[in-house]
Amino acid sequence: MPWQQPFTNGTKGMTSMSSPSHAGSPTDLKKTIRDKALELGFSDCRFTTADPPEDGHLAALDQWLSDGSHGEMNWIARGRAKRRDPQLILPGAQSAIVLSLNYLHPSQSANGSGPGISPDRQHGQGVVARYAQYRDYHEVIGARLKDLSAFLDALTGVQSRSLWYVDTGPVLERSFAHRAGMGFVGKHTNLISRTQGNWIFLAEILTKAVIEADIPEKNRCGSCRRCLDACPTGALPKPFYLDARRCISYLTIEHRGSIPEELRPLMGQRIFGCDDCLEVCPWNRFARQSRTLADFFRSDIQSRTLSDWLAMDDTGFRAATRGTPLFRTKRSRFLRNVCVAMGNTRDPGYLGALEKAARNEDDLISEHARWAISAIAGA
Ligand code: SF4
Ligand code: SF4
Repeated sequence: MPWQQPFTNGTKGMTSMSSPSHAGSPTDLKKTIRDKALELGFSDCRFTTADPPEDGHLAALDQWLSDGSHGEMNWIARGRAKRRDPQLILPGAQSAIVLSLNYLHPSQSANGSGPGISPDRQHGQGVVARYAQYRDYHEVIGARLKDLSAFLDALTGVQSRSLWYVDTGPVLERSFAHRAGMGFVGKHTNLISRTQGNWIFLAEILTKAVIEADIPEKNRCGSCRRCLDACPTGALPKPFYLDARRCISYLTIEHRGSIPEELRPLMGQRIFGCDDCLEVCPWNRFARQSRTLADFFRSDIQSRTLSDWLAMDDTGFRAATRGTPLFRTKRSRFLRNVCVAMGNTRDPGYLGALEKAARNEDDLISEHARWAISAIAGA
């Protein structure tokens, strides 16, 4: 999910602590912060400078935006200036703390044969991306980031302000993560950790404290191109380049309108996100199961059938998805996805529900229901 909506900045108020730092050298500080991060449940914690991201990463971002490959995600373009210069986010920033939290659930296998993961394998159920099968990660990670920021402020004594983000804030988080040695950006454009695979959330804290930087990671994809070959819609036309407009994650979550008809048959039963390029990555052999997130797993999300979803009115949908990433997509877009998934089953058993949906007053739902009916009729 390289473009997840920016999480509201956790902007902490100015602190006026006058005591000097008790944290010792930049190396001691690093160990103390890392220990605390792991204690809070993060999977890894690395450090880098608050220097701007590498020129190559910024140039690639600019090219991607000018190609229009971000689709309707204009908030990415709006954050461009701050992406270039972390000092615009936190004047005086010296270091970036990069955190990861893995989300491989104990019921899932690292490479995609666990329950409710892979598309088109479970008739009757839509496929929801793994990360979305938890209570909303913004909430879960945000609480821990807040605690770590508070700890950092108290520890350094000279800290005046911390900013923190989950996923894509204005910080080019994957560039920082790479520079901090957390992992490398794979050809599928997501970060891969050599010790955790690619089922990880990323977060950062910018700080004015000087902390010893870790050694950057290098790309380790080699000649592999499994992710490019696995993408059902051709959204990875070349290594390290994602055309979001063709990506099922984008189409099912971010895209607001009608899904391009030529892409619908390629979506299978994916109703929220897509994990295909992540599932095939061989680095997942190092993935670890999440202890921190296990308690936040929402098994009900994947276990509902397509028929269950389509039968929901707005109140039912809100009740079923509250507290999960699905909630923010809203019923209209989500049922649009469900209709496409039903059409792709080619199962006449769905015709009754689809005909009812085709009369729905919501044009987005009714149009996709009509498409699904045609798809089934043409099977
Ligand atoms: S495999 Fe799925 S998530 Fe990955 S780029 Fe293709 S459509 Fe997007
Ligand atoms: S599947 Fe292969 S090419 Fe793709 S990110 Fe993983 S290692 Fe790199």
